[in-house]
Amino acid sequence: MKNDFNLRFHKLKDRILDSERAAGVVPEKVTLIAASKTQSVEKIEHAAEVGITHFGENYLQESIPKIQALRHLDLCWHFIGALQSNKTDSIAEHFTWVHTIDRFKIARRLSEQRPQHAAELNVLIQVNIDNESQKAGVSVQDLPALAKKITVLPNLKLRGLMVLPKPRAHKLEQQEIFQQVANCHKQLASEIGEHFDSLSMGMSNDLEAAIWAGATHIRIGSDLFGPRA
Ligand SMILES: *Cc1c(COP(=O)(O)O)cnc(C)c1O
Repeated sequence: MKNDFNLRFHKLKDRILDSERAAGVVPEKVTLIAASKTQSVEKIEHAAEVGITHFGENYLQESIPKIQALRHLDLCWHFIGALQSNKTDSIAEHFTWVHTIDRFKIARRLSEQRPQHAAELNVLIQVNIDNESQKAGVSVQDLPALAKKITVLPNLKLRGLMVLPKPRAHKLEQQEIFQQVANCHKQLASEIGEHFDSLSMGMSNDLEAAIWAGATHIRIGSDLFGPRA
C-alpha cells in the first residue's frame, strides 16, 4: 500500500515539475492539494509523511473527524465541496480555505461565523466556465459583482478563483478553457489587489494544461491515492 502511494506520488511530482518547467514557473511553486475525500486518516497520515501539507475535503461530515484526528500534524485544510448554507458554521471553524463560493449569502455567513481568534478565511469564487446547469459556480457575467461584494466582508480574504471545467480529451482544449479562467482572474486582480493571487484549477487528468495556464493550486485525488472505491 505505502509503496504504491510513494510510486504514484513520485510520478505525480515529476509531472508537476515538468509542467512547471514547461510553463516557466519556479519549481515547486504550484501548491499540491491532495483531494482526500473518502480516504482514511491513515492514508492522509501517510501522505503527510512524504511532505504533503494541503488537503482538500468535499463532505463536511466526513471531514471534521479526520481534521480532529490529525490536529497534531499542522495540516492546511481546504473545503472543495458543495456548500450548503446550514453547514457554514462548521466550515468557518475548521477550514483555512474555501474554494467553492458561488453566492453572497454563503460568503456572508462564513464571514459572520469565522471564529474571532482565527485568521481571515481564504476564499475562492467558483466559476461555472462551461455554463453547466447542474454544476455549482457563478457565471463569468456575474463574477465581477460577486467579487466586489465579497471583498467588503471583514473575516474573509478573497484570494482568487476556482474552476472545475467539464472534462476535455485534448490538451489544447483544456488549455483554452483554463486560459479563459486565467483571463478573468487577471482582469479582476487589477481591481481587487495583490492578495487576489490564487487560481485553483487542474486535477489528475488536466493538471499539465492548468499549470500551463497559470494554476497556483492543483487538486489531485485519484492519481495520488489510487482510484476511489
Ligand atoms: C475529487 C475532486 C478532485 C480530485 O479529482 P481527481 O480526478 O481524483 O484527481 C478535485 N477537485 C474537486 C472539487 C474534487 O471533488
